[in-house]
Amino acid sequence: MTDPLVSLPVSKFRESLAQIREWEADLVPAAVLQQRIPGFRAFKGIYKPAGSSHALWIRQTLRGVYSDMKPEYFPDGSWTYRYSPESQEGKLDTNLATNRGLLQCMKDRVPIGVFRQEGDVSGRTMYRVLGLGYIEGFDGSHFTIRGEPINESSEPLGEGVIPPFKPFEFSPTPVETVVRKLRERRFSSIIRELYHEKCSLCEVGYRLHGRSLALEAAHVIPVGQAGITGDIRNGLLLCSNHHALFDAYAWTFDRDFRVRVTKDREFRASALANHVLGWESQRLPNLPTSKTNYPAPEAIEWRLSEFRKQV
Ligand SMILES: [Zn+2]
Repeated sequence: MTDPLVSLPVSKFRESLAQIREWEADLVPAAVLQQRIPGFRAFKGIYKPAGSSHALWIRQTLRGVYSDMKPEYFPDGSWTYRYSPESQEGKLDTNLATNRGLLQCMKDRVPIGVFRQEGDVSGRTMYRVLGLGYIEGFDGSHFTIRGEPINESSEPLGEGVIPPFKPFEFSPTPVETVVRKLRERRFSSIIRELYHEKCSLCEVGYRLHGRSLALEAAHVIPVGQAGITGDIRNGLLLCSNHHALFDAYAWTFDRDFRVRVTKDREFRASALANHVLGWESQRLPNLPTSKTNYPAPEAIEWRLSEFRKQV
């Protein structure tokens, strides 16, 4: 899988997109974006650099007049985001330079950067960097933008189609470092979002200066065993403590999401303070809202069989 940015001719444009990709899922102060991203100081909404036929980025501000929606996340680690075109005097005009820039991006498959303003942190205006996205369609009222693909098959899926779960990652060609890094970031950020920024087991979720901390996206089938990173159905969100115990097979869960704890006596005696035993046979209290994003049965079975070997 090669990096599509390589084929972009204008290096300044490419550098900006590469920087936006580097920040994917981060919360970045507006002041930093104004310094590093062209047009961010002066333009709102859609930015198309002068002399370019393509738009470079879009942003949604908290006080925006357009009815943009929240991003939607999918099991294969993709996201979509609907964005309103710019209007003039309350009327949509696809001939506006900015809208034309987005339509050109759609035609030429050139990615754009996507930013969403979040609440202020310590008095600073902050933007969540959604990352790079491709414009998949325009239905007359909204552009649909899809986050750049992180898997081998980048075929766009139809609306509402859930891709089959492939538990293992075997690539015939080495995955480029940039794509691998992106997969890891995407896996973590989507899992964090879908599990409501709380441990799936103990529901702990700390926040400090606008960021959640001590939470980790755990793999059900470990990466070391070729477990897939490009699909969030091989993951769940755990606090650092319960992640370490999960990785050591001290506990796991079954297909009904009921917690199983090792029979190891020493562990059980030492785990009292860790509250793990309190959840034994209970259902994991924190799971994604949609069942389609739950850990996949194949992954759960794989871990359960490893867990049984350790008991
Ligand atoms: Zn926990």
